[in-house]
Amino acid sequence: MNRPLIAGNWKMYKSIDETVNLINTIKAGIHAATDVDVVVCPPFTVLAAASEALRDSRIDLGAQDMYFETEGAFTGEISPLMLKDVGCRYVILGHSERRTLFKETDELVNKKVLAALKFSFIPIVCIGETLEEREARRAFEVVKQQFERSLANLDPEEMERIVIAYEPVWAIGTGRTATPEQAEQMHTYIRRLLHEKCGEEMAQKVRILYGGSVKPDNIAQLMGKPNVDGALVGGASIKAESFIQIVLNSIILESQEEQKK
Ligand code: PEP
Repeated sequence: MNRPLIAGNWKMYKSIDETVNLINTIKAGIHAATDVDVVVCPPFTVLAAASEALRDSRIDLGAQDMYFETEGAFTGEISPLMLKDVGCRYVILGHSERRTLFKETDELVNKKVLAALKFSFIPIVCIGETLEEREARRAFEVVKQQFERSLANLDPEEMERIVIAYEPVWAIGTGRTATPEQAEQMHTYIRRLLHEKCGEEMAQKVRILYGGSVKPDNIAQLMGKPNVDGALVGGASIKAESFIQIVLNSIILESQEEQKK
């Protein structure tokens, strides 16, 4: 099984002081949890402070978005070079809030994914259906289309370096989590799409995170599913206690590991 990954998407929250405090508390709280990879993705304005606070820690830094050009007249955008410079290793791409509120298309997400890989980032590529699409029984079709278009033109070696986040839009920030069974069903499907694209060995190596109202009390059940490799956490990642507890609860107990077999 893949090493678990818990990533926190801080969205548009936190000042510099709050960032340093939150990171210091998280660092202390997850000190003993060495069997899980942890990433925090604060807003651009506090990345430098976060990078400094994370120095000598095993928590990685990620950004919430990135433009695909290296530099130029792109007012308001942030380039891969800038994110490298500030110490980011991960970048969230194609988050549903960017797709919905800022009209990002799969084609744009794809350009960003290719640029992120070129600059050796680990892109966390978000895909997921809306409630309307799920109720119309189009969830699998929508996820397949986003998968194929957002990940077009990636060779197998590049596919191995990405992380996929399945985030049903109806579960983001709503308190309405997908059941572990619903998550597993879609993760299994995404694993199959990976298999078709790059073969079984590679498909097994790609981490598939679940995102959508993950909390300390539902993470263990989600992680108990064979194809759930971790979580992308929004609201609960900006409070130290809940994020620490999610990280700690994500580590699979031996009994759950047995169930996965
Ligand atoms: C997210 O923003 O990626 C997310 C999953 O948010 P929340 O955990 O608040 O639903």
